[in-house]
Amino acid sequence: MFARVVIPIPSTKTFIYAIPPESAQFAALGKRVVVPFGAKRLTGWIVELPADASAIKNIKEIINMPDNAPLFSEEDLAFFEWIASYYLHPLGMVLAEALPSGINTISQNRIRLAADAVNGGKNLSRIQETLLELLAATPNGMSLPSLCRKAGEKVLHREILALEGMGLITSAEVAGRPGILAKQEKWLGIAHPPPANLKMTEKQATLLTLLKEKAEMPVSALEVRLRSSSFLGALAARGVIRLYKKEVFREYLHAEELPEDKGKIILNNDQSAALAEISKGLNSRQFSPYLLHGVTGSGKTEIYLRAMEEVLQSKGSALYLVPEIALTAQLIRRVQGHFPDEKIAVLHSGIPNNTRYDQWRKIKSGEIRLIVGARSAIFAPAGDLRLIVVDEEHDPSYKQDDRLHYNGRDLALYRGKKAGAVVLLGSATPGIQTYFYAQAGIYRYLSLPGRVNSRPLPRVEIVDMRNERDSGGRMPIFSRRLILALGETLSAKKQALIFLNRRGFHTYVFCQACGHVFKCPACDLALTYHASQDVLKCHHCDFTSKKQRTCPACGSERIHSQGAGTERVEEEIKRLFPAAAIARIDSDTASRKGASEKTLAAFAKGEIDILVGTQIITKGHDFPGITLVGVIAADSSLNVPDFRAAERTFQILSQVAGRGGRGDQPGIVVVQTFTPYHHSIMRAQKHDYPGFYNNELPTRRELNYPPYSRLIGLHFSSLNEDKGKKTVARIGTAARKLAQSFAAGKADIIGPAESPLHRLRGRYRWQMLVRGKEGGILRQLAQKLLDEVKGEGIEIRIDVDPVHFM
Ligand code: ADP
Ligand code: ZN
Ligand code: ZN
Repeated sequence: MFARVVIPIPSTKTFIYAIPPESAQFAALGKRVVVPFGAKRLTGWIVELPADASAIKNIKEIINMPDNAPLFSEEDLAFFEWIASYYLHPLGMVLAEALPSGINTISQNRIRLAADAVNGGKNLSRIQETLLELLAATPNGMSLPSLCRKAGEKVLHREILALEGMGLITSAEVAGRPGILAKQEKWLGIAHPPPANLKMTEKQATLLTLLKEKAEMPVSALEVRLRSSSFLGALAARGVIRLYKKEVFREYLHAEELPEDKGKIILNNDQSAALAEISKGLNSRQFSPYLLHGVTGSGKTEIYLRAMEEVLQSKGSALYLVPEIALTAQLIRRVQGHFPDEKIAVLHSGIPNNTRYDQWRKIKSGEIRLIVGARSAIFAPAGDLRLIVVDEEHDPSYKQDDRLHYNGRDLALYRGKKAGAVVLLGSATPGIQTYFYAQAGIYRYLSLPGRVNSRPLPRVEIVDMRNERDSGGRMPIFSRRLILALGETLSAKKQALIFLNRRGFHTYVFCQACGHVFKCPACDLALTYHASQDVLKCHHCDFTSKKQRTCPACGSERIHSQGAGTERVEEEIKRLFPAAAIARIDSDTASRKGASEKTLAAFAKGEIDILVGTQIITKGHDFPGITLVGVIAADSSLNVPDFRAAERTFQILSQVAGRGGRGDQPGIVVVQTFTPYHHSIMRAQKHDYPGFYNNELPTRRELNYPPYSRLIGLHFSSLNEDKGKKTVARIGTAARKLAQSFAAGKADIIGPAESPLHRLRGRYRWQMLVRGKEGGILRQLAQKLLDEVKGEGIEIRIDVDPVHFM
């Protein structure tokens, strides 16, 4: 018996292996195998059990099959194969990306002696006896390969199965070494009723009230609720509560985490109409794609939840995708609050591998039917998939820029089509392409034109920064208007959000004597000064250096810096409003685990007056206390060489503006810009999506950019600038020839040209676009090109349907 195996290597080849007769009955499509590969052992997956492969010589044998169950089905495989061909990526690498990572090397079938194993009077073979002896000597159990080694046998599947059948041993798949098998958590519970005369602090009293409802809870849940746990010791010392450790299953959520429950909301007319349409799609059991277009705060999330409810009631499963940074505890609590009795899987890159693996298996077995996650959750092995929600479908973070360049939104559409499911794309600012398809009737268009309870959208004021100068004639960070508005917000005891898409203190450090700019030695990029650590950092690679006092070029000490990052903005606000409570969230502060969550929680409770941050603060949050949103530099996303720059700018501005005025008080938004008359800024001011779309579309048509064409981006990089340049030029010529001959004029080539960041992490970079109407031809052309230029000492990355070119 033979197996066709795919291995995660950069090659499209598959490999035939022989299956040892003893293991034949366990072989199946989708099973993980360990195989000899050259001098190595690699993990692969069975994709076919060919009837006969005896013609092939020198077939090697599979070493091991570590799992009990296959990891994917034939249907899943078809999905993965499509991805491989669509994104021009080897199948093995697609599988490595799609299947829970980490399990390849560390998960194993761990075999242990059963706790109540009594070995009396049973008819055991000699080898079975040996196995029991070996296992008795290792209480933590052993993996199958090491058991084989110790027992000196090649395969033991049958013996293991027999012993398991007799109840003498247990085998379970585990991820990781036994040391990290069981997770322990600190819990607390009520021990004795407190004496009547016990003096308690407010927090202690709250705790005891909580414990009346629930006899025990994890300490972490308490920290979320009361923001401290230091007062527990005193209660424990008096014997009122018990503190202990408890073993927990690795799930992302614990029911004890006090889900947010908004009570039963009555949908308004627009919401009901939209949901009724979606229900039709769900009931049809046919692929039904929708665009749910609703301004921020119009109640889209509520509709997602109702649609999921319908699916779960009819025993189907649902996938809820959100951009990674919108995947906050707040959102998860909201989902859990809506489905208090439902197990929910949470999948994103921050989930530890073993938890991911545990959740994956529960999804595969059908135990979990509701999956919330970032883009990679699109690979979750949900059966009877009836609904895929893609919230903020326009968000660039659905696109992975690494390894496999997939777009979670596009995969959702393909997967939904294959599964006959509803795909619900939601956004306040849909991608131009998505809206275009909705206009064309390819997606059904659903609209929520207003905010719930007729709350007004915030008033947006544009400040022309060209008219702002401080007393010294310099460009200030804050306009007079924004300072005024901040002051008013503080005296009204309301909250403000200040958005800036650059972190650090100064974004530009230079010598005033000779003009030398402090640049990253590996990238074409000015270094950013981070005052908190007193260092210069490159925001593209990890390069960090101490701030120098003298210029390396001329020795002058007139080192000057300018350009404001979030750190500087925070400091400036502190200077202007010393009494205000100010916090900052950006990827510098977020690197401390849980730090952002804590800050956001404090902000939600009103303990912070002004929150400064990057993109992270713009998404998905629902803070009713915000009445002012300030945008420091609206043009920063506009001044990038990308045909989608205006689209991005409109989206970002609408998104930040949408954070304001969600409570009872209407909000205002102050946008500082140097290009106040750009259509992306003017239309965002009026919350006018159709207006923006109608401004933008003619340009796209004129320049033949999506949605009027399809694109494939090719990115080249080389350590050697001269060689790279020559090779890239040659590839460009070859591409033009192919466009004429092979594609018969149905494709044109833009570039190759130097990438906007020509030097990055020490590599020189160029880019080229293949453009045409039919994606299939473009892919074939790109594939042909790749086959021709193989091995020319240049690295090539392919980006089908690129989201940006930076
Ligand atoms: P979106 O996802 O479009 O930003 P949400 O679904 O988060 O909007 O709704 C915004 C706020 O309004 C939330 O606090 C939500 O609970 C509330 N909400 C949604 N629908 C209704 C409704 N029909 N009646 C009252 N409140 C609602
Ligand atoms: Zn100098
Ligand atoms: Zn760098």
